[in-house]
Order: sequence, then structure tokens, then C-alpha cells
Amino acid sequence: MPAKRALKEYERRRDFALTPEPPARAKRSRTGRSFVVQKHRATALHYDFRLEVDGTMPSWAVPKGPSLNTKDKRLAMKVEDHPLDYAGFEGIIPEGEYGGGTVMVWDEGTYEPLETDDPASALRRGELKFELHGKKLKGRFTLVRTGGPRKWLLIKGRDRYASEKDIATEKPRSVKTRRLLAQIARDEGGNVEKAATGDP
Ligand code: MN
Repeated sequence: MPAKRALKEYERRRDFALTPEPPARAKRSRTGRSFVVQKHRATALHYDFRLEVDGTMPSWAVPKGPSLNTKDKRLAMKVEDHPLDYAGFEGIIPEGEYGGGTVMVWDEGTYEPLETDDPASALRRGELKFELHGKKLKGRFTLVRTGGPRKWLLIKGRDRYASEKDIATEKPRSVKTRRLLAQIARDEGGNVEKAATGDP
């Protein structure tokens, strides 16, 4: 899908007079292969996993967050594509707006698609293997569609980065500002008590 059309749903869901989130603009990073994971305390805590593909960022909400354990199959609910500019967003979405709550840049970096140089087609077919070069997440992962258009699984592949350590609990801070969720909420006028329920 062309990036502009893919971002229509993102635009439709937001009132940019009320939210500080970036506008829907198709854009490519220097590598064209960036990724971000945003920890988001909205109605419920989740981790938004976004991969840059052809000028936009296909996105999944992962309730439990990514795991380094190859035995874990983390539910990843497909959500609307986000613009590339969203990858730098850390702050507060006002209560009452779509996704109202606190957002943290939990991890960022680049990725390499594996077994394909066309990740858009792989995603349309329902399975993409890739290697992450993040600050927290490294090595092979698979996103695979299962049971319906929105329901996917995020699974760590076997390599030297696989581990049984709980990365979400052990590395709870922003890679951008080193802050916890409650600190972001406090600094930027959000709901500190609500945000604190997402901190370890
Ligand atoms: Mn979210």
C-alpha cells in the first residue's frame, strides 16, 4: 500500500489540535530500515512495535512486550501504520484522546529483513523474519500472522542473544532520556499515578 494511503487511518483517529503526536507524513529514514518500540501506558500497558517499511511504520501492540525467550510467543495486535516521525515521540497523549496516556521510547535502532529484500510483501503474506540492531533488542525475531487479520505473534529466534532474562523488567528506562514512565508523566504534565503502574 502506498505510504500516504497507509497513514489515512492514523490521521482519522487523531485531532492534531489536541494531541502532540506528529502529523501523518510519509518519510524515509537514512537507512530505510529503522525500528522503534514504544512503551505506552494507555487504557492498558503495552509495547508498540514498529518497523519502517516503504515510507511508513507498520505497527503492532504487544501487551506483554517483546521477549528474548525463544519459547515465548508474544501476542502482537496489528494496529494502524504510524509515520516515521512517530519513532521519536516520547511524552503525553491527553486523556480522552485516542491512546491517551504516557509514551516512552523504550528501544530503537535498525533492522534487516531476512530471507527477503521486500518486507512489505512478506508482511502481506503473514510472516516476516528479521534481525534487530537495537540498544536492548538484538538478533533474530519473527512476526507471524495467526487467526485473523490483526492477530500476530512476535517470537525470538535462536541465536546468541536469546535469553531467559526478563528484558522489560530489567531494562525499564527510555533509551532516549533514561526516564521511567512516571518521570515522563511528571515532567510533561501527565497522570503520574497511572504511568507509575507501568514501571517495575
Ligand atoms: Mn499504543
